[in-house]
Order: sequence, then C-alpha cells, then structure tokens
Amino acid sequence: MSSYFESFIDYVTVRNPNQPEYLQAVREVTEDIIPYMEANAVDLIDAKLLERISEPERVISFRVVWMDDDNNVQVNRGYRVQMNSALGPYKGGLRFSPTVDLSVLKFLAFEQTFKNSLTGLPLGAGKGGADFDPKGKSDNEIMRFCQSFMTELFRHIGADTDVPAGDIGVGEREIGYLFGQYKRLRNNFTGVLTGKGPAWGGSFIRPEATGFGLLYFVERMFYETQNTLKGKTVAISGAGNVAYYAALKAISLGAKVVTISNSNGTIYDEHGFSQEKLDYVNTLKRNLEAYTTRFPAEYHEGKKPWQFACDIALPCATQNELDEQDVRQLLKNGCICIAEGANMPCTELAVKAILKSKILYAPGKAANAGGVAVSGLEMSQNRVGQQWTADKVDGKLKKIMQEIHDTCVHYGKDKNGVINYLKGANIGGFVKVATAMKAQGF
Ligand code: GLU
Repeated sequence: MSSYFESFIDYVTVRNPNQPEYLQAVREVTEDIIPYMEANAVDLIDAKLLERISEPERVISFRVVWMDDDNNVQVNRGYRVQMNSALGPYKGGLRFSPTVDLSVLKFLAFEQTFKNSLTGLPLGAGKGGADFDPKGKSDNEIMRFCQSFMTELFRHIGADTDVPAGDIGVGEREIGYLFGQYKRLRNNFTGVLTGKGPAWGGSFIRPEATGFGLLYFVERMFYETQNTLKGKTVAISGAGNVAYYAALKAISLGAKVVTISNSNGTIYDEHGFSQEKLDYVNTLKRNLEAYTTRFPAEYHEGKKPWQFACDIALPCATQNELDEQDVRQLLKNGCICIAEGANMPCTELAVKAILKSKILYAPGKAANAGGVAVSGLEMSQNRVGQQWTADKVDGKLKKIMQEIHDTCVHYGKDKNGVINYLKGANIGGFVKVATAMKAQGF
C-alpha cells in the first residue's frame, strides 16, 4: 500500500478513537479507492475527498426517556448520523440494539454512502438508532420508546432532508409508531420514513426487498459464470426479515436452504426449508430449538451455520458474524459463493481469506442494496401520491440489482477477466459521490 494510504489511515485512526467497526469499514473501502485515485483521479486526493467523505456532515445524539410497564423511568441514548448528502436527502435505517454506539452507526452510515450511490437513485446516506434492547419488551413499551425517540428526532428529519427506515430491531410496527408520532408533532402526512405499511404510504415489496435483492444479485453472479442456483445448497444465518425473504427466494430459484440461525444457535435441516417451515420458525420467536419438535432436523446450540456443507453462504444476521476460521471451514466443505445480506458480516481477515480463495464474493454494500433501493422507490411513490403494483416494484428491484452487479463488474474486472466485486462496489459507489461532492464545492 502507498504512503498516502498509510498516512490517511493514521489520520482517520487518530480522529476516531475507540471506533473499531468504523475504522474497519474505512480501511476496507480505502484499500480499493486510494489506488484508484492515485491512478485515475489525483485531483480528488488534492480536493481532500477522503478526509471529507470519512467525516459525517452531522452527528446528532439525544436522550430518550420512557416509562416501562412497571412505571420505572428508563433512559437510553438515541443517534442520527447524517453522513453524506451529495446525492440526495440522508437515507438509511434505524437500529435498536444494545450493541448500538457511535462506531457501529458511523460504519453503517459510511457503508450506506457507497451502497446508496450504487443503487443509481438520488439518495444521500445516514444511519441512526438507539442502545435500546427490544427483546422481551411489551408492545406498549415499544410504542412509548418509539414515541419518545421521535419526539427528539423529528426536528432533524423530513421528506427532503433525512428519511430514516428500519434496520435490526426496527420493522413495520416500529416505523408505524415513529410515523404516528412524527405526524402528531408536525401535522404533516409525508414520506419522512420508509418501510411504512402498504395501507399508509408504504411500498409493496419493501419487506421482501433486501432478501429478494440479495438473491437477484447472486443469480446474476452465477449467470456471469454460466452457472445457476438450481440444486445448490444454501446456508443462511439470521432469522429476521432479510434471512426469511432470502430463503424464500433461494427456494423459488431451485436451491435448497439448510440453515437458519440466531445468536443462540443454528437449525440444520438437511431436507431443506419450505415456506411452511420458515413460517413456523417465525412463530418460535427466539426459541429455535422448538423447531426440532415439529420437523426432523438438528438444533446446534451456540453454533454458527458455517460448519455445514453448502455451495452458497448468505450471512444475513449482523456485523462480524463470519470470521477467518469460518471461511476456512466453508472452503473445506466446497463453498463457492459468499454473499452478504447483512452489513459487514465478514471480519477483515475473513474478507482477505475469501478474496485470496477466488470464490465468488458479494459485499453487502452491493448485494444487500435492494432494501434501500425499494425505500428509494417508496419515496418516489410518496412524492407523486401513487402506489405501484408489487410486480412493478419487483421488476424495478431486479433491474436495479442487475445494474449494481454490472457496475461492480465494470470497476472490478481485471485484465485477466477476474472480477473482484468488493473492489468494483467500492470504486463504483465512490466515483459518483466524489463527482457530486466536487461539483458542489466545499
Ligand atoms: N437498513 C437497510 C440498509 O442497511 C435499509 C435502509 C433504508 O431502507 O433506508 O440498507
């Protein structure tokens, strides 16, 4: 790596102490971008593009006070990182999880900058959330928390300013409570949030979008190598919205899905999941072990899905869930493709091992962009006061995922025809944002 790379990494490291996830995301992107800038765009180095892009435009931190069902006052910390508005209003999800801190939200907002750019839609980048643990909370507690959270956030967002959506711990129910509170405070029914219910301004296919988009991307990668998903074995981590719809789409494309997991353990069903089985998993809440009382399968407490033989691994749970050891195990078992449904699910060493192995690797900022892409389509529908059919939205999603794939190929293919999708996604996402930032001055 060049001396500019070394000095830039020193610079961001000093400026962002105690933010390991954020520094990991910055290193992963700049390892590709800096050589590109040095070869093709020295003017961007002079314009301090990287120093600018790695500094959020605005970071908001606020107190969220709410009352639990036992009338105890609870205090949490809420955030919104308004990362980059070069391409459009800040756009990105809200995460409610005890693991949320500034490092996690800044890494997510940074990834979002490149992801949103890759969608080709006019979307800036942001991310937010709270260190609130929704697990075990009653519906009323969730509602009171969301109302209190929005009572602070509302003054910083707007349909043309910043449009949050869901992420881990925030689904249609939470978006509903947040939206209701925004409307009460502003007396304004607008597209200020995406992921709304289809009856009140939401888009069809938004719940499915991340999982479906992931499979459209993988399908395209396989097509590029004259292969198909038919008969392939797929291991999926996670048991949330992304994992569920990724599994359904994989099954409909002829693959066999053999694992679903949560942070406690993994279900291994060698016969393959069906929609009926997946719907049953959804009724189990966090108790995945109960699956084996209804279907012949194994439950592995404390185990990740990556020890089981598969052709395709789809990490769809959370950051850094798949490490170097897991990559070795997957390769040993014949895995030929790892595609990220979650954001940064592979550790830095895992990514290095995957790239070295030359198997197909789809980074999250490209492969899971379907969610935010359909959020962008929800914003378009809200602006014109229309609701498009599910078929129309699904068709647009498929086209966007194919275009993201082709952008990755354009920027990631070397002279021997080998495609590095990570490099392609990083450079492809960067070029557009950098051009816009430069054009808009400082
Ligand atoms: N949280 C999702 C993501 O990581 C979706 C964001 C959105 O729809 O704005 O991209």
